[in-house]
Amino acid sequence: MPVKSLECIFCQVAAHEKAAKIVYEDERCVVLQDINPKAPVHLLVIPRKHIVSLNDAMEGDKLLLGHMLTVVGQMARQHGIDSTGYRTVINTNAEAGQSVFHLHIHILGGRVLRWPPG
Ligand code: 5GP
Ligand code: ZN
Repeated sequence: MPVKSLECIFCQVAAHEKAAKIVYEDERCVVLQDINPKAPVHLLVIPRKHIVSLNDAMEGDKLLLGHMLTVVGQMARQHGIDSTGYRTVINTNAEAGQSVFHLHIHILGGRVLRWPPG
């Protein structure tokens, strides 16, 4: 799998080639505001590396994936939703509604979230 996919919108965001409201970035991942927010706080944590979905996350990606989860907590604290609560979602393939095929963790918060999701 290539580190960057030229036609992938999230690779373009991570490379600052496509505009996005980036709220955090480091050498391994980028966090942006979702363009079509489903909650008052709706962020996407994306790896800089082009990984299509969780189906494609391999042993060598363990540190990266763990790092992304620590960034989730950091973002929740920064956006003031850590104590009220928030949901993290990773959609994989058609029936889960994945629409961008570059792995991303949704962070949704700032309102009451129903369970189970639709
Ligand atoms: P998925 O449906 O794959 O789980 O989530 C993709 C998310 O990316 C959606 O919530 C959608 O609103 C968001 N999205 C799609 N294109 C863009 C874009 O160009 N910029 C930003 N910031 N978000 C996007
Ligand atoms: Zn990509």
